[in-house]
Amino acid sequence: MDYLPIFLDLKDRHCLVVGGGQIALRKTELLLRVGADVTILSISFHKELIRLAEREKIILRQKPFEPGDIQNNDLIIAATDNQELNAQIARLARHSKILVNTVDQPETCDFIMPAIIDRSPLIVAISSGGRAPILTRMLKARLETLIPTNFGQLAKLAGSYRKRVKDMLQHSAQRRRFWEQTLSGTPGQLMLSGQPEKAKAAMENALKSASQGAPPPSGYVALVGAGPGDPDLLTFRALRLLQEADVVVYDRLVSPPILDLVRRDAEKIYAGKARAEHALPQNEINQLLIRLAREGKKVIRLKGGDPFIFGRGGEEIETLAEEDIPFIVVPGITAASGCASYAGIPLTHRDYAQSCLFVTGHRRGDRPNLEWEKLIAPKQTLVIYMGLLGLDDICQCLIKHGMSPDMPAALIQAGTTPNQKVVVATVATLADKARQEQVNPPTLAIIGEVVRLHSKLAWFQGTTE
Ligand code: SAH
Repeated sequence: MDYLPIFLDLKDRHCLVVGGGQIALRKTELLLRVGADVTILSISFHKELIRLAEREKIILRQKPFEPGDIQNNDLIIAATDNQELNAQIARLARHSKILVNTVDQPETCDFIMPAIIDRSPLIVAISSGGRAPILTRMLKARLETLIPTNFGQLAKLAGSYRKRVKDMLQHSAQRRRFWEQTLSGTPGQLMLSGQPEKAKAAMENALKSASQGAPPPSGYVALVGAGPGDPDLLTFRALRLLQEADVVVYDRLVSPPILDLVRRDAEKIYAGKARAEHALPQNEINQLLIRLAREGKKVIRLKGGDPFIFGRGGEEIETLAEEDIPFIVVPGITAASGCASYAGIPLTHRDYAQSCLFVTGHRRGDRPNLEWEKLIAPKQTLVIYMGLLGLDDICQCLIKHGMSPDMPAALIQAGTTPNQKVVVATVATLADKARQEQVNPPTLAIIGEVVRLHSKLAWFQGTTE
């Protein structure tokens, strides 16, 4: 190891930055974040530095560097664009036993500045010892996506319970189990989803059970949107939850590559639903979620698209709420946005559509039961979910209620996946064309002038033509 990673407390310590450019600016901002007393010495200053000095407590000294300037500092950063001068500052500092960093010259540095992932109080610092800064940045980007934004809040919560846990749980094995269960369990999940008060209540609950030797309290249910199919469209939170899950209850629409991202040891339960053929009736799904959570499990209810858009997500969490099971909802990219983007059909456009309507073509009874007058409004894009079976009827009704038969219309099969196929026609011909082209569900219909843009803006083609 070439360097010892240490975390310096620089609160109210004197730090000198020599140089007045962009790099000096960035280093100064970092020093200010940890509460250092910063003096910047340079013959000229970047305008952002001058602006910063108006807001923050920093001293700008406009003068050339002289050896005497290094005195009375705890730490020095030489950030001028003159390497010779930087090296001279480093020599002087070292002679006076002041820690020094020279920008881009690791050989003259006492310390180097790492790439930082700040989830204070949790901080990750990464360094390649000055050898490959780009590689360091790539690693940082990966870790940034891996570590939830509220991770620091979770660390704070843990910190605030440390003493009580130590007092209440005598054995270290007991304490370890407690921390594992709470940090990755319900209190942890509530904290990470930004609910500190609920997280504290869950923590109290867990501490009470643990001190009485009772089984751990209930797990949680996360109602998670899996997006339209392309696994890259998952949210960070969805991915993290999938990798921590004990059980995943998933729908037919959830694509296989997304199921591959579920933690390997997790149990996967298929809950249906193909149209008409419900693998599990809704009530049984609700009861299943409750039972699994009561067993203390981390349960993911995984749904295609967004759980609150034609996903019955609302019904499922209603029963969880009634039964007092902790739950969170993670939005997903709904089929309308996914399909529209991948097919190059903007849902709104200044020239063509100022509003967009999402409707379901799923029939209750015999015929589609929709408010046709609203659906044919001009300058509006109409998106029809679950409309393949009723497509003939829907298109005819639209025309009967006044929509021009020439209105452009598209049907998108399995949008965002390798099976994506886009059929473009008019509202009069879409159903026939879909039959000719043997389109299979899931499909989404988009009707409106915006469909004209498809020929120009389409960028994604599925691989199975
Ligand atoms: N909650 C989901 C919608 C569930 S309803 C969401 O927000 O997307 C199921 C309907 O969604 C399907 O019948 C189909 O119309 C549409 N759908 C979902 N994924 C799709 C995809 N990848 N391509 C086309 N349509 C899709």
